Amino acid sequence: MVSSIDSSVGTERKLVSDVPGPKSRALHQRRLATVSAGLTIGFPIYVERAEGAIVVDVDGNQFLDLGSGIAVTSIGHAVPALVDAVSEQVAKFTHTCFMVTPYDSYVEVCEELAELTPGTHAKTSALFNSGAEAIENAVKIARLATKRSAVVVFEHAYHGRTNLTMALTAKNMPYKDHFGPFAPEVYRVPMSYPYRDGRSGAEAAAAAIKIIETDIGATNVAALLIEPIQGEGGFIVPAEGFLPALSAWTTANGAVFIADEIQSGFCRTGDWFAVEHEGVVPDIVATAKGLAGGMPLAGVTGRAELMNAVHEGGLGGTYGGNPVAAVAALATIKTLRDRNLAARAREIGEIAFANLRSLQHDVAIIGDVRGRGAMIAFELVEPGTKTPNAAATKEIVTFCQQNGVITLTAGTYGNVIRLLPPLVISNEQLADGLDVLGAAVRSVR
Ligand SMILES: *Cc1c(COP(=O)(O)O)cnc(C)c1O
Repeated sequence: MVSSIDSSVGTERKLVSDVPGPKSRALHQRRLATVSAGLTIGFPIYVERAEGAIVVDVDGNQFLDLGSGIAVTSIGHAVPALVDAVSEQVAKFTHTCFMVTPYDSYVEVCEELAELTPGTHAKTSALFNSGAEAIENAVKIARLATKRSAVVVFEHAYHGRTNLTMALTAKNMPYKDHFGPFAPEVYRVPMSYPYRDGRSGAEAAAAAIKIIETDIGATNVAALLIEPIQGEGGFIVPAEGFLPALSAWTTANGAVFIADEIQSGFCRTGDWFAVEHEGVVPDIVATAKGLAGGMPLAGVTGRAELMNAVHEGGLGGTYGGNPVAAVAALATIKTLRDRNLAARAREIGEIAFANLRSLQHDVAIIGDVRGRGAMIAFELVEPGTKTPNAAATKEIVTFCQQNGVITLTAGTYGNVIRLLPPLVISNEQLADGLDVLGAAVRSVR
């Protein structure tokens, strides 16, 4: 049994003002005057505190959080073990730079990553600050170790917003438009997208491999980089067999299989990592988001012979593996393990998927319900077609916000609603959130 974290703010959704309320609206005016217009304005309620699955804003409204800050506070907000670990570490020391004078928590995080990521081979890790930085470094390592340069990525992929990771990301707007020129030697191939391509995993993999071999050449490929379940792309779950076929191809052709588990990792899908579902063992795994419960930390974990091919000084960064973030990761991992939150992610999935599939029967605008464990999404379409329905998606998200529920959108066509509920969410909270979501979907005319 998993119970919700005890909460001094209560466990209920509760609105006490307009949404956004007067204090949030005032803060928003200040933001507009001083924060770059280039940042997305998601839901402008300004947060005062958060606990478990509840976010409290400056006007005293309590929102049910079904997004976890994009799978970052994946256990929940204010996890007691994490709060204690971080508070104690801040009082001890906040920074030395691991490359100047090291500390044990960094080493311990790398030990945990070696233990938790798939495969029993020898592994080493390097720690960074963000997902994009982890992906950049995974590609650096793969290129150096293979002495090749081409990187294979997929349609609908999202890997970050730095120059290399923009090149690796598929969607132009808003991520790439006019931000080029982009890094070279990045090649995009078709993804397996069962709802839209109707292909088996083997067929989709064969199509991707054919392009790799004809357009790039197998011996030029340093790495194949893939999200085992795509995040921003719309929680696209590839057909069974797709990932194993690609993994086998990389092994046979001397290329590095890099799994971007930044959104799907750390028990989100009901396993520690999404690739485990089909027994795929990546050569390198990139992690971030749920790794450290809200502290900025990312990891690159891979076969020791790849990771250690890099010359001394070739990897690093001022803050990577910061001691406060490192102890947050250790507390996160311990909590996930001790409370068996992978099993809870599966339970959350069973409840949510049953609910959403029955909703899909009742309405004409849900084309597909998909995901795994507590990585849950549905795709909105025009009734009777597969034409993306971004307008309905916006309406539903707004309805949820106005009723105190935070959800996220995704998808190349902006027509996917995704849920990444905190794993400590109670069954009552989950049912309440799904009720609001159902009402939102039914409200679309
Ligand atoms: C969020 C994300 C990234 C980028 O991580 P940042 O910490 O935002 O740089 C990369 N890959 C995936 C799959 C992500 O979800």
